[in-house]
Amino acid sequence: MNREVVLCENAGFCFGADRGFNAVKNAIEEGIPIYTYGPILNNSFIVKGFEEKGVRVVNDFSELANLPKGKIIIRSHGVSKAEFDKLQESGFEVFDATCPFVKRIHRIVAKESEEGSEIIVVGNPKHPEVCGIVGWSHNGATVIENSEEADKFSFAPDKKYCVVSQTTFNRNKFQEIVELLEKRSYNILVMNTICDATSIRQTEAEALSKRAELMIVIGDKASSNSKKLYEICKANCDQTYFIQELSDIVGRLPKVSGLVGITAGASTPKYIIEEVQSYVRNDV
Ligand code: SF4
Repeated sequence: MNREVVLCENAGFCFGADRGFNAVKNAIEEGIPIYTYGPILNNSFIVKGFEEKGVRVVNDFSELANLPKGKIIIRSHGVSKAEFDKLQESGFEVFDATCPFVKRIHRIVAKESEEGSEIIVVGNPKHPEVCGIVGWSHNGATVIENSEEADKFSFAPDKKYCVVSQTTFNRNKFQEIVELLEKRSYNILVMNTICDATSIRQTEAEALSKRAELMIVIGDKASSNSKKLYEICKANCDQTYFIQELSDIVGRLPKVSGLVGITAGASTPKYIIEEVQSYVRNDV
């Protein structure tokens, strides 16, 4: 059959996800109790797979008190300074898999707040990455998620402000919020800390879905970057399928003769992408 199957060049694990995944994978070999501070990735297959190998997810610091000592891995989202310090003093071996791009934000926030700036984080206040970032400020921080909140924010005339963004925040929305803030304060330092991993995946998915007759997006239903990829693809290609693993599509895909495109969220492991790709090549 004359069918073209194209996989987005940057589909799947981003740099930070890959680091976190490998940190746990390598730690399992050590034969000591392994914990992750929160689920290592936003992907239930991976978390479950690791759990079956004895890795335990710890959701709160207090849980550690009753657990045998071992290694605890901080995930790519990072943690607040208070949590970081508590973990270091807990008697557990700590592996910090905070993504270096997130670490950079922690450093900016710590330095600028120490030098007297008020911190504004543009992002989702409930996202663990944002909670962690706020926790590196010496004097608290305001989280702004949308233009309405930016409009309402009240600046103190005698203060300096430093604005950073959640790494996965939408670039255009960030720009919009920054423009609103800059209109009302001169003393504002803006650091665009958005990571390109998300936007690159979105741009590629958009281009591919425009050419595809059928599009497959692989990712966990709880992963916001995967959902976003699905929305982008669906807008361009009516036959877009959002799946978590190969079994979701086996025997269910319509026969098509045109291009089949595949992309995957930043927390989707390579082996699932490969399985889907090989199935689609041979069976659609
Ligand atoms: Fe790091 Fe970017 Fe991946 Fe977040 S999306 S973990 S900042 S590489």
